[in-house]
Amino acid sequence: MSSNEQIFNSYEEAHRYSLTIPWKIELCNTGESCWCRVIVPSEPIKFKEKISNWIREDITRDFDYIIPDGSVDKETAEYVVELHNRSVNLYQSQKKRLQALEKLNDLDQELGFE
Ligand SMILES: [Zn+2]
Repeated sequence: MSSNEQIFNSYEEAHRYSLTIPWKIELCNTGESCWCRVIVPSEPIKFKEKISNWIREDITRDFDYIIPDGSVDKETAEYVVELHNRSVNLYQSQKKRLQALEKLNDLDQELGFE
């Protein structure tokens, strides 16, 4: 996606964005044999975080987890990720359809229809 270099201004913005892109499943440090699975965004997301009110400079952090390790089992993780990705895909294809309709409307007007 085009937003790979994008750095959000806050954790909240990064979080909001993370809900609009596909997710994927990763293993925790224990590996394949562990009961749990980690859910992460499918692309890197970064955000700026204020260190304190006294230090003006922000640090850039990675928005790593949708759901961290030790929270959800493999089957549930797979279910949640599939459900989420399906709804993201649906939203994206609806958005494309709307854009295509808008183009058709523009074309109609250009050609003097309607
Ligand atoms: Zn684990």
